[in-house]
Amino acid sequence: MANRKWRESGYPARLAEKLPDGVVRCHLSPRNCKIRPGQHGFCMVRANRGGELVSLNYGRSVHATEETIETEAVFHYEPGARILSMGNIGCMLNCDYCHNWKTSQARFVEDKDVFHYTPEEVVDIAERHGIQVISWTYNDPVVWHEFVSETARLASDRGIVNLYKSAFFISPEAVAELLPVIDIFSISIKSMDPKYYRRVTKGWIEPVLEATEQVYRSGRHVEVSTLMVTDLSDTEQNARDMARFVGERLGPEVPTHFVRFHPDYKMTDTVRTPVERLERARRVALDMGLEHVYLGNVYDTESTNTWCRSCGLLQITRYGLNARLVGLTPGGACAGCGTDARVRRLPHPAAPPAVLPDLPAGERHDSARFDWHGDIRAVHVRVVNTADSPRAVFHRRLRRDHPDTGWTRIPMAPRESYRFISAQSFDDETGVVVAVPDGCTSSLHQVFDRAHFPTTEASAGTVNADVTPLPRYVRPSR
Ligand code: SF4
Repeated sequence: MANRKWRESGYPARLAEKLPDGVVRCHLSPRNCKIRPGQHGFCMVRANRGGELVSLNYGRSVHATEETIETEAVFHYEPGARILSMGNIGCMLNCDYCHNWKTSQARFVEDKDVFHYTPEEVVDIAERHGIQVISWTYNDPVVWHEFVSETARLASDRGIVNLYKSAFFISPEAVAELLPVIDIFSISIKSMDPKYYRRVTKGWIEPVLEATEQVYRSGRHVEVSTLMVTDLSDTEQNARDMARFVGERLGPEVPTHFVRFHPDYKMTDTVRTPVERLERARRVALDMGLEHVYLGNVYDTESTNTWCRSCGLLQITRYGLNARLVGLTPGGACAGCGTDARVRRLPHPAAPPAVLPDLPAGERHDSARFDWHGDIRAVHVRVVNTADSPRAVFHRRLRRDHPDTGWTRIPMAPRESYRFISAQSFDDETGVVVAVPDGCTSSLHQVFDRAHFPTTEASAGTVNADVTPLPRYVRPSR
């Protein structure tokens, strides 16, 4: 097919077993697909070419995007850190509600949505923009194993931290290959109900729980989250089972996130999770002894803040995808009583980007504005420098009560394409303005909840243009 050229070349895949008659078995996920010559596995991005297992998505990606670490349900590792998010194509699951289905389900991905990166280019982007954490995220990094492992090694050698955000339906051998190069794991456990896993995600639960334990035992930083799907997995029982798993098979100090669902993909005949069910889940988990339990995709709640478990001091406040340290020492202890807050800090956090009171005088800028509306509280901004010389683009938050927010400056290399998120960070913030000089262009992409990679420009219509439902979902009985 003309618009599927991205799948034409293959890269040698690891974790392969050769079987008779040119068949190969893939040991990357617990599916262990047996693949005949010319065929591909369930994920559609690992294939048998001439009796060899190959990766079809090596270096093929969605656009690299600067976000904040809170986007990845990581609240206890350098809060507020800027991260470089890298997503790819394909998935070893097929969840009925996937909000990244346009990239996780490879059959929907067209060449126009695919960007090509080498490991060196990814690390260079992070370094050029002063970003200390690379996040392997969105669709799912499991099916990008070779590219993730090789790039994470290079990044690690250059002092960059690697974050792995995944549904973690992965084999123990693959986890063992990740542990030397990944510093932070954010694991999305879809439910604690084995039947739900089979029915809604097309995977199965026990390998996910075992892989999560494997990471925990290694001492790597781990946080877990679960999407509370309206009327399916937002029950008190699910919260109880999740808290029991974290408390007994991991440890009560592991931060746990209950995440709000929005209708998407095949599951559009429903509503967002009622916030009171998420708050109830959090109370249940706290009562069962977990130390830090948070809500996700909920803005106007105190249940995203961090308090000292000893003296009760407020340590970190969060609004959406943004965090502010208000009671934490540089070493990660409570500023009030000195108790270890179990928040890992980077030894030398990067300086934030420069903020100027005004745009540079004597330069003409085109501007684009985006106003938060409804549940759209974040936007991806893509800027492109079409010139052969360096440029700088700017963005500014619009606040009702504090109009002088200043312009954040983003340096752009010649011919560079860059993408970053702007998310509502105060309740009086109404939107964002982007200003680009001659030689640069910008486009805006509405973000619906965290860790969502939108493929449609805002100018093409509402967010619904990006969550077009497939044939109507038939709700399974509970
Ligand atoms: S990664 Fe999983 S789904 Fe993909 S080919 Fe390997 S075993 Fe199959």
